[in-house]
Amino acid sequence: MDIAFAPRVGGVAADRPMIDPYGRAIRYLRVSVTDRCDFRCVYCMAEDMTFLPKRDLLSLEELDRVCSAFVHLGVRKLRITGGEPLVRRGIMWLFRRLARHLDAGALDELTVTTNASQLARHAQELRDCGVRRVNVSLDTLDPAKFTAITRWGKIDKVMEGLDAAVAAGLAIKINTVALKGVNDDETDRLIAWCGESGFDLTFIEVMPMGEIGADARLDQYLPLSVLRGQIQRHWTLTDIDYTTGGPARYCRVEETGRRLGFITPLTHNFCESCNRVRLTCTGQLYMCLGRDDRADLRVPVRQSDDDGPLVDAIRDAISRKPKGHDFVIDRRRKGPAVARHMSVTGG
Ligand code: SAM
Ligand code: SF4
Repeated sequence: MDIAFAPRVGGVAADRPMIDPYGRAIRYLRVSVTDRCDFRCVYCMAEDMTFLPKRDLLSLEELDRVCSAFVHLGVRKLRITGGEPLVRRGIMWLFRRLARHLDAGALDELTVTTNASQLARHAQELRDCGVRRVNVSLDTLDPAKFTAITRWGKIDKVMEGLDAAVAAGLAIKINTVALKGVNDDETDRLIAWCGESGFDLTFIEVMPMGEIGADARLDQYLPLSVLRGQIQRHWTLTDIDYTTGGPARYCRVEETGRRLGFITPLTHNFCESCNRVRLTCTGQLYMCLGRDDRADLRVPVRQSDDDGPLVDAIRDAISRKPKGHDFVIDRRRKGPAVARHMSVTGG
């Protein structure tokens, strides 16, 4: 980039894109805006979670500042997640602020991952802020099973949220965590329902994150290689090159014409093409979902109104991005590979 046209971050010219030690350009930031949630999904949270004190959270203004610094450093895609992002008070202010980067052409995509419980209220405004696609997490179409998995969720609210999203013109991708003995009997129904509804669908392997109870995860773990074999008994899958910049590998379901993705951190390591980092709601930057190393960006944010120290801290963090994670689920390992819950770093 010509230095004369380089975006400036608080007086610091962001002329160099962020490249990690393994040559990967960092273009994707996922931001967890809260650790709280109105659900307690069994693979994600314990029922009696202790949440962070509110004063530890970055304010919405601080989140905007950090996100904007990343955009100036070459991030082209922002995903707002959580916890449940739409339960954070005033969250639409952040979407409205971040929309300016879309308008300026500095950002390709602003998107959100949600459980959809609050989507009916927010779908139209999300669309007005430039959001075009949303990921909705839904593991079952069975109301009783839905409540068993989410503990506190009601499927009707999710369906209302999906209807509102469709009415607002948002493209929808359903994320389904594959849970052995829980929802693996519903695979065909989910594929057919997504086909009829015009939704894409991605299956996710359960990841060893956060303490949720002894052996629970081993019991839940269903390798997607096995699931794919089961799906292919009834559906014709054609591999396609499509990518959303995320880790899913996609195929087309010929019978429905919809995309079907597989996120397989355990059976297939996707680290070599990793282009993303994750910010927690307290300003901790995790360079890898599966590792504990992090950089505290809240300190430079609160230390100075100038973005120079923040940009330096971000660059220093990227220079430490590891080559990959080493998630393993087996009986020899006691406890989760990563102690923090998925709701801390955002899925
Ligand atoms: N609350 C929002 C939702 O559920 O979509 C956003 C945050 S949630 C942590 C993001 C995604 O992570 C969801 O699709 C959820 O199913 C997934 N997830 C949570 N814990 C997981 C785990 N241990 N293994 C795999 N996926 C997990
Ligand atoms: Fe909440 Fe999402 Fe975790 Fe479920 S997966 S408990 S909806 S953060």
